[in-house]
Amino acid sequence: PQKDSTLLQVKTIRKQFGGLVAVNDIDFSVNAGQIVGLIGPNGAGKSTTFNLITGVLPLTSGSIVFRGKPLASATAEEIARLGVARSFQHTQLLPQMSVLENVALGAHLRRSAGALRSLLRLDRQDEAALLREAAIQLERVGLAESMHELAGNLSLGKQRIVEVARALALDPSLLLLDEPAAGLRYLEKQELAEVLSALRDEGMSILLVEHDMDFVMKLTNHLVVMDFGTKIAEGSPAQIQQNEKVLQAYLGG
Ligand code: ADP
Ligand code: MG
Repeated sequence: PQKDSTLLQVKTIRKQFGGLVAVNDIDFSVNAGQIVGLIGPNGAGKSTTFNLITGVLPLTSGSIVFRGKPLASATAEEIARLGVARSFQHTQLLPQMSVLENVALGAHLRRSAGALRSLLRLDRQDEAALLREAAIQLERVGLAESMHELAGNLSLGKQRIVEVARALALDPSLLLLDEPAAGLRYLEKQELAEVLSALRDEGMSILLVEHDMDFVMKLTNHLVVMDFGTKIAEGSPAQIQQNEKVLQAYLGG
C-alpha cells in the first residue's frame, strides 16, 4: 500500500534499445503538489524516462503506478486522459496558427485517438468549448493577452509557456516538462519559473527534466540524478551539489 500523497511511482523501470540500456532499473516517486527535478548529462536517459511514463515507449521491465493504477497496458492516449500531460524537448507548436488554436488543438489531439478524423467532425459547439478551455489555461499562465497572436511570432520564452498551457488543457494532475528552459534568456527563465511555482502552489505536481542546475534548484527541493541510464543520486539540492558521483558525471562528462 502506498501513501495517499504519492501520485507517481516509478518502480525499477528499464528500457533497452538493442544492446543499449537507456534506462537501467530506475526508481523514484512524485508526490501530490511536489516538483521533482530529473537531471543528468546528455544521453543519461531522461527523455526516455518521460517516454516510458507517458506510454510513448513500452517498458522492457519494471512498472509505473499513477494514482494507485498500474500503467503497464495503457496507451499514450489513456495515460494522458488519466492525468499525465507532457511537453516535448523540441517545440511542437504550429507557428502559423494562433496561440489559442495551438492550445486548443494540442489538447484535442492528445485527448482523442484518431484525432484528425475527429477534428474534422468537430461541430461548432465542441470547437467553442475547446477554445474556451484553451483561453482559461492561457489566462492561468498569464498569456491571455497573446492568445490571438501567431504562435511563431512569440518569443521563445512565451512559446515555452504556451506549451505549458497546452499541457494544462488536458486537465492533468501531473505535468512532465522536458527541458522547458533550454535556450531561454535569463529573464525568460525567471518568468517560466514563476509560472511553474504558481502551478505548484495550486497543487500541481511537476516532473521537470532540466539541464540548467540553477533553474531547477530554485524550483525544487528534490532531485533525481541520472547518468548513463542509471540513477546515481537522489536528494535535496544541497545534498546533490556535494555528491561525488554527481560532480564526476557533470565534470567528467
Ligand atoms: P537524455 O534525454 O537524458 O539526453 P535520452 O533518453 O534521449 O537521454 O537518451 C538516452 C540514450 O538512449 C541515448 O544513448 C540515446 O541515444 C538512446 N536512445 C534514445 N531514444 C532511442 C531510440 N528510440 N532508439 C535507440 N536509442 C535511443
Ligand atoms: Mg532529453
